[in-house]
Amino acid sequence: MSEVTVIGGGIIGVCCALSLQRQGIGTTLIERGDIGGEATLGNCALMARSEIVPLSKPGVMKKLPGWILDSEGPLAVRPGHLPTAIPWLLKFLRNARADRVAQICHGLGEIAKLAQDDFDNVIEAANIKDIWAENEVLYLYDSKSQYDADTFSWNLREAEGCFVTPLNKNELRDLEPDVNTDGKFGVVANGWKSFTNPQRLTKELANLFVSLGGQIIAQDVARIKMLNGRADQVKFENGEILKLDKLVVAAGCWAGRLLSDMGIRIPLAPLHGYHTDLPDSGVKLSRAVIYAPGGFVNTPVETGLRIAGTVEIAPIDAKPNFRRAEVLVEKAKRNLFPQLNTSNGSQWIGARPFMPDTLPVIGPAPKVDNAWLAVGHGQLGLTMGPTTGELISALILGKSPSIPIEAYRADRRYVQ
Ligand SMILES: Cc1cc2nc3c(=O)[nH]c(=O)nc-3n(C[C@H](O)[C@H](O)[C@H](O)COP(=O)(O)OP(=O)(O)OC[C@H]3O[C@@H](n4cnc5c(N)ncnc54)[C@H](O)[C@@H]3O)c2cc1C
Repeated sequence: MSEVTVIGGGIIGVCCALSLQRQGIGTTLIERGDIGGEATLGNCALMARSEIVPLSKPGVMKKLPGWILDSEGPLAVRPGHLPTAIPWLLKFLRNARADRVAQICHGLGEIAKLAQDDFDNVIEAANIKDIWAENEVLYLYDSKSQYDADTFSWNLREAEGCFVTPLNKNELRDLEPDVNTDGKFGVVANGWKSFTNPQRLTKELANLFVSLGGQIIAQDVARIKMLNGRADQVKFENGEILKLDKLVVAAGCWAGRLLSDMGIRIPLAPLHGYHTDLPDSGVKLSRAVIYAPGGFVNTPVETGLRIAGTVEIAPIDAKPNFRRAEVLVEKAKRNLFPQLNTSNGSQWIGARPFMPDTLPVIGPAPKVDNAWLAVGHGQLGLTMGPTTGELISALILGKSPSIPIEAYRADRRYVQ
């Protein structure tokens, strides 16, 4: 029996397992599918240093009804799912007060500011420096006044130590010649970088974990069995049992069912997103380009140009509505890349594990002596992976974590 068992082989679970293993703790990772094969696979591939402002912010209440009714808008609720989604949506909206948003930005900013160093640490150990696209990210608006209208968010980012470098017209044109920058306003978002392949990143970190003596079990956890207030065993779908010493639950959007075995309820919802990877796009980018008014990102990845984004609130097992991915490609062609070749694209849907206050859950499992939670990383899970691993391993080892974890505890109030 390993000392720690981690359930979930996405970026979060792999980083927790790796951090523990590097501290010399015998660790087992359980993943039922492909390592990094769910939300971690298809995201925008960004270390998004200042993507710390929640969607739920002042003004959202006015916009939400229009978004919900527009199935092609930036945030949609799948028809029929609204009654189920309403309690979560109400909590989400009640986190939109300006003072609360500032607290949330601080909570996310505290983790995001550690991301670069914590990534450098694991990327160097895994010897995969080619996983980085070194250039910082370009943020584009249709005009300077559109950028100015976002001042609320940029001020919050600045308060958390995130800065941008504005570009003049010529600098903007020369930075990414394949982007139609006519009339647009752009800033380089300092500290942001992109990965060439987030799933390969995760698999390479998992390989490092195994090379250090970690074990990966390819099984689907059906249940966590409790005994005397402790997580005692996991029972797999095939009926086999694994005895537990200490447990970390990092099962992304699927954590809720496992947590209920431990008597824990957290308001975790799947917020789906989409991408299209275009292998022959005809667009060459030296960095990721975020098109702010369109709410989508264009990232050069190993599989071509990835056009990704949108939020759809739907059941975890909802059939994909790939029209949402098509809309992003159409917007990209119309607004940024008139020459875009859209043939041979591959589409993807995946779900962000999302808490209504946009903050992750990182910390001890309430009232369970030997379990810790690392779930709910929402829009920033890739960015927060290695730091979450460091926080969880410090907590399990009884050391002081590098930042206070009060804001991330599972038993916090989700609406304040
Ligand atoms: C369109 C889109 C764009 C995004 N862009 C970015 C971005 O640019 N930057 C960023 O930082 N974040 C981004 N995100 C968010 C990020 O992808 C997620 O927050 C992150 O991948 C969550 O990681 P995870 O390990 O918690 O979940 P997952 O990657 O979903 O992993 C959970 C794993 O647990 C396993 N599992 C679940 N239940 C069980 C069980 N019972 N037994 C065994 N295994 C189990 C699953 O198979 C899965 O592999 C984006 C998300 C989307 C959808």
